[in-house]
Amino acid sequence: MAQVAEASTSAGTGGAAPSIGTGVRIDHLSKTFRVGRRTVAALEDATLWTDKGSFLSLLGPSGCGKSTILRILAGLEEPTSGSALVEGRTPLQLRRGNELGIAFQDSALLPWRSVLSNIRLPFEVSGQKPDDALVGELIKLVGLEGFEKAKPAQLSGGMRQRVSIARALVVTPSVLLLDEPFGALDDMTRQRLNVELLRIWTEKPATTLMVTHSISEAVFLSDQVAVMSARPGRVQEVLQVDLPRPRTPDLMRTPEFHALHDRASELLFGGASAVPGEG
Ligand code: ADP
Ligand code: MG
Repeated sequence: MAQVAEASTSAGTGGAAPSIGTGVRIDHLSKTFRVGRRTVAALEDATLWTDKGSFLSLLGPSGCGKSTILRILAGLEEPTSGSALVEGRTPLQLRRGNELGIAFQDSALLPWRSVLSNIRLPFEVSGQKPDDALVGELIKLVGLEGFEKAKPAQLSGGMRQRVSIARALVVTPSVLLLDEPFGALDDMTRQRLNVELLRIWTEKPATTLMVTHSISEAVFLSDQVAVMSARPGRVQEVLQVDLPRPRTPDLMRTPEFHALHDRASELLFGGASAVPGEG
């Protein structure tokens, strides 16, 4: 564990962190929601820095503000205080520059459009000519060949989610925000898409922030894993995942992988009640 603990002290939680936040730069971010006469502190003083082109995962109990962080970065929510930048740009600038790939769990597909034209949508929105070779490649990647003409209502939840993932990747974004993108998928599909996502990401590393509830997925994909504590959400610790790339599934059987998995599990569930084999 010494190795992991040491690595985690050099991770980007601000303060003495070596990273200057050329990727994600979340500074003392707080968000309070008003619900009727009550206020809900969703996020309190969260600070998180990563390098450009790195892959960061957020792990944490339900309701700790993970989605709120992503929604702020996507410009869908205003912070109450603090700031959030990616690659030096504000959420608004990122949206204007069409550099953002977003796949949220609830990201709505347009119901009247086919799979194909939903995936092409980002090109239309940004006024670019659709890259149909890439669209075809992504459809194949997410296993939707033969369903190009299907409407969202004709697909299962997992299939709809795969359409969202393809749509997020189609603009080869420089910033990728993923909120439990594989949540509704079975384990085998999830594993396969993890490996494929990694392959695509390695070809063109986007500054990525992914929310997941799978520790294995987080460690397998990421350069850093930020573990958050319960509401109001704070960043508890950032684990540095110094595992070599390219990564293949056999990495998950190495002691180094297990050490990181155990550490994240300890932080999430406490030492005694760590759940073995999660994810
Ligand atoms: P997570 O994604 O980690 O499960 P969220 O970021 O979705 O958590 O939510 C954090 C907290 O903020 C929760 O308690 C949630 O109920 C609350 N919350 C989120 N969005 C809103 C909203 N629009 N209005 C009121 N409360 C909200
Ligand atoms: Mg959420």
